[in-house]
Amino acid sequence: SVVIRGLGKTFGSVEVLRNVNLDVKKGEAVVIVGSSGSGKSTCLRCINRLEEPTEGHIFVGGHEVTGKGVDLNALRRRIGMVFQSINLYPHKTALGNVTLALRKVAGLSKAEANEKGRRHLELVGLGQKADSYPAQLSGGQQQRVGIARAMALEPDVILFDEPTSALDPELVGEVLNVMVRTKELGMTMVVVTHEMQFAREVADRVVFMDHGVVLAEGTPEEILVAPEHPRIREFLTRTK
Ligand code: ATP
Ligand code: MG
Repeated sequence: SVVIRGLGKTFGSVEVLRNVNLDVKKGEAVVIVGSSGSGKSTCLRCINRLEEPTEGHIFVGGHEVTGKGVDLNALRRRIGMVFQSINLYPHKTALGNVTLALRKVAGLSKAEANEKGRRHLELVGLGQKADSYPAQLSGGQQQRVGIARAMALEPDVILFDEPTSALDPELVGEVLNVMVRTKELGMTMVVVTHEMQFAREVADRVVFMDHGVVLAEGTPEEILVAPEHPRIREFLTRTK
């Protein structure tokens, strides 16, 4: 679960997040949408403390992650992150990428890590590609390895920041399908995306951010199909 209370973030004198509140229960998928610069990435990055919140409190899996004295390495072990840019180790195979953290961070034996790594590559449809290097995989396949890597660590939540926006259009679907599967497997997810179809089908709730605040929050129907707010209607016509 993720609980955000009164989150604020300023860069110098620029306020980019103001009084953001969010609740993501275990097993839920919350999708964050909003214009460029509205603070979506900054919000995600505050959750795993890649950015220091200026104000407010964040709890992940019941533990507060804000404030002094938090073990950031331990925290990030409990939070998976999948970015727009694919960040696999180029000199490691798909399996090697998935097992690295299982061995180094989770402390599994080589045999245990390999077994678990293969199982997660199967889950994302890449059982046959375990021994391929990133350069031998498509962008979509690489992103799926990244998702397998995040899932294998059994985190409290996986944060997705526009995981498909750097991909060729024909590769987007396979990554979204894997994300649907991730949700079906019960993973807690916070997803920033411009894929409205995905948001409509998978999100338990949709959060619309605008200029650093949560302008509206509701079901996909409420926010993406029949929004009351003119600002959201305008956004939807632009992204269609
Ligand atoms: P996009 O859809 O383009 O990814 P976003 O909603 O993710 O946008 P953020 O990247 O969170 O937006 O940025 C929110 C605001 O904070 C922007 O005005 C951005 O310029 C500013 N910002 C982000 N990171 C920094 C930084 N390190 N220093 C200064 N300003 C920053
Ligand atoms: Mg962003």
